[in-house]
Amino acid sequence: MWKEQKEFDCIVVGGGPAGSTFARVAAEGGLSVLLLEKDRDIGVPVRCGEAVSDAGLRIFHEPDPRWIASTINRIRLIAPNETVVEFDLQQKGYILDRRIFDYDLAEYASSAGAQIVTKAYVDDIIIENDRVVGVKGTHVGERFEKRAKIVVGADGVESRVGRWAGLKTTVKLKNMECGFQKTVTGIDVDEHMFEFYLSKKWAPGGYLWVFPKGKNKANIGVAISGYYAKDGKSAQKFLDEFLAWKYPKASVLTTVVGGIPIDKTVKQMVMDGLMLVGDAAHTVNPVTGGGIVPGMRSGLLAAETAVKALHNGGPARKNLAAYEKEWHKIGGKNHERFYRIKETIFRFTDDDLNRIADGISAVPTDDRSLLKLFSIAVRKKPSLLFDVIRVFAGL
Ligand SMILES: Cc1cc2nc3c(=O)[nH]c(=O)nc-3n(C[C@H](O)[C@H](O)[C@H](O)COP(=O)(O)OP(=O)(O)OC[C@H]3O[C@@H](n4cnc5c(N)ncnc54)[C@H](O)[C@@H]3O)c2cc1C
Repeated sequence: MWKEQKEFDCIVVGGGPAGSTFARVAAEGGLSVLLLEKDRDIGVPVRCGEAVSDAGLRIFHEPDPRWIASTINRIRLIAPNETVVEFDLQQKGYILDRRIFDYDLAEYASSAGAQIVTKAYVDDIIIENDRVVGVKGTHVGERFEKRAKIVVGADGVESRVGRWAGLKTTVKLKNMECGFQKTVTGIDVDEHMFEFYLSKKWAPGGYLWVFPKGKNKANIGVAISGYYAKDGKSAQKFLDEFLAWKYPKASVLTTVVGGIPIDKTVKQMVMDGLMLVGDAAHTVNPVTGGGIVPGMRSGLLAAETAVKALHNGGPARKNLAAYEKEWHKIGGKNHERFYRIKETIFRFTDDDLNRIADGISAVPTDDRSLLKLFSIAVRKKPSLLFDVIRVFAGL
């Protein structure tokens, strides 16, 4: 049916969590929506550690047990000198199975009325009179052109939609983490524990994670910044050295590599006929590198704005700007604080991290929390204080 239809209210480029959320909410709001995904399957390949918080997920959906590979309630931080600090997460987290999760999000969008097309590679946008009015691409060897009142760039970290439209979406080298992850099996892990290794030797300008998927399987990955890893050692090499040291008998089921934009959100998220959501707009939390929930949040907010705009007034920038304003006001405020916290944390030396770990080790186990950890970190770097207080107070 999409082949015959020439024009849609919205065309979404990319079927990740941000694009599918936009498509669902826009279709629920009565808009005609076409979602184009270049890959053969929605949700595959999975380029993600798959960690989310229960609270984040619940903004959108009651967590479905089919999505959840592990439920997490504790966190373990390993300092450069291998001091281990463990504490209660004080909220639930999950390691998802994103193949199922992303698939379901697209299915919800389809049930709401959006048309989803896979193997549809968008390679350009159509601009007329300085307004984005459609996309061009290839579907299974056949060229297509479709028009839309609003084109939504939900095309992830390698997004080109915004760039084609002339928006500034370049990520500075120091804010682009290189992520390299293997899903491994044949190991023993605590299935309810997030593990993070923090050290320049394991992950300069980032961290190394062990996210369990059951008792004998885990996503083990490293994200490093090209800026801090000055000697040119690759993320893959950091990960392989860790695996050889910690889990020499692990079997590798999957290997993924991908960029994580731990940047400020792009200043301009909309223009006439165009909106950017998710990684394409740099909505990833700069401290954690988590982009699933922020991406869905931006998709939701953008779609609510699009519905209002198309029901009263049309797709001019002035009508779409409410999304950009709202994101920068609510999500964006904390986002910028997270960005500043990240900037400070990544400058910690291994000695700083060891001292913080020693400090928190002295705190009785029951008394430990993420806030306590930050309060010890703040003693090392008092300028962190204001941002940490505001983030935890939700200001
Ligand atoms: C190694 C690694 C680990 C991570 N771990 C976590 C984690 O544990 N928790 C977390 O919350 N986040 C994590 N992230 C980040 C998270 O994966 C992303 O932030 C999230 O997937 C962003 O969602 P999105 O919908 O914006 O983009 P994506 O999920 O990237 O979806 C974009 C979609 O657009 C499609 N597309 C791109 N170009 C085109 C085109 N031209 N035409 C048609 N389709 C196109 C792509 O195929 C893709 O399906 C991790 C990232 C990496 C790389």
